Amino acid sequence: MDPIRIAIVGIGKIARDQHVPAIRGNGAFSLAATVSPHDAGLDGVPHLASLDELLTQGPAVDAIALCTPPQVRYDLAAHALSRGIHVFLEKPPGATLAEVEALKAQAAKVDVSLFAAWHSRFAAGVAPARAWLSERRIDKVSIIWREDVRVWHPGQAWIWQPGGLGVFDPGINALSIATHILPRPFFLKDATLVLPENQAAPIAADLHFRDTAGAAIHMDLDWRQTGPQSWDIIVETDAGTLKLSQGGAVLHLPSGSDHGEDIEYAGLYARFASLIRGGHSDVDTAPLRLVADAFLRGRREATDAFHD
Ligand code: NAP
Repeated sequence: MDPIRIAIVGIGKIARDQHVPAIRGNGAFSLAATVSPHDAGLDGVPHLASLDELLTQGPAVDAIALCTPPQVRYDLAAHALSRGIHVFLEKPPGATLAEVEALKAQAAKVDVSLFAAWHSRFAAGVAPARAWLSERRIDKVSIIWREDVRVWHPGQAWIWQPGGLGVFDPGINALSIATHILPRPFFLKDATLVLPENQAAPIAADLHFRDTAGAAIHMDLDWRQTGPQSWDIIVETDAGTLKLSQGGAVLHLPSGSDHGEDIEYAGLYARFASLIRGGHSDVDTAPLRLVADAFLRGRREATDAFHD
């Protein structure tokens, strides 16, 4: 079978760190081109300044991976789908829920694969955590996602702009795990979003959710954490406490701990290949829905200005 010719659109941090090695490590794909307006691209790979240029002057492609900031995703994805090109959407899948729903409908209509990727769901501890929790009574959940924005997002102006999500850019990863491993749906009860007075997106947030059986789920998001960083989900159950740490990579159960290898992006590309080969799409908007609800229902508090 011929490899799927794929172009990466938006050759920034995540594309270079994860997408390029994952594509090169998967025989189902060949990296045909890269696209971005202000970058020289990779040695030996055709580089174009825009998707339009790719589609008019570049090598033929069967698929694109959209690794741009979310605010520009819809137009790029809709254009690619209209040309019969399969689309991989980095998280979050869009800047609004409605645009993601529109893409989903478009992909179904033209019979092209659309994949809303949630990389954290492929972290090593997540599948076993989901299996273990499926048999338990959930009493209480605590999500602690505290990191230093200056370390992880230096110079990313888009992340502070409307649609950039601020601290929910990493926080949505936690929600992608929680919506996947917890056996029942959950929804927001109240939230406080803390916004620097000079920015349009929150630097911290405190959220209270409840699941459909009444279990409390608390989420603490903060981008002002210096020193040790926390990406933990702790679930208290009738059979003891489960803890997923390091963003889902390490699973602690009452019976012991397990640290799996980093397989997130390899897992995403294996999934994308199987969606394309099988003629399917996978677009789960549950994590984005909860973030949208936080912006819909959360109370705003102002804090000191943030300068990168
Ligand atoms: P980034 O380093 O700022 O890279 C964004 C890239 O998108 C840049 O190469 C930029 O090109 C390009 N771009 C912007 N507008 C474009 C357009 N209209 N057409 C083509 N390319 C365009 O951002 P990032 O950290 O890689 O994040 C990108 C996405 O991946 C975000 O949604 C983020 O949430 C997600 N993500 C990031 C991480 C992470 O650790 N950083 C992890 C997982 C997922 P120029 O620089 O040439 O202008």
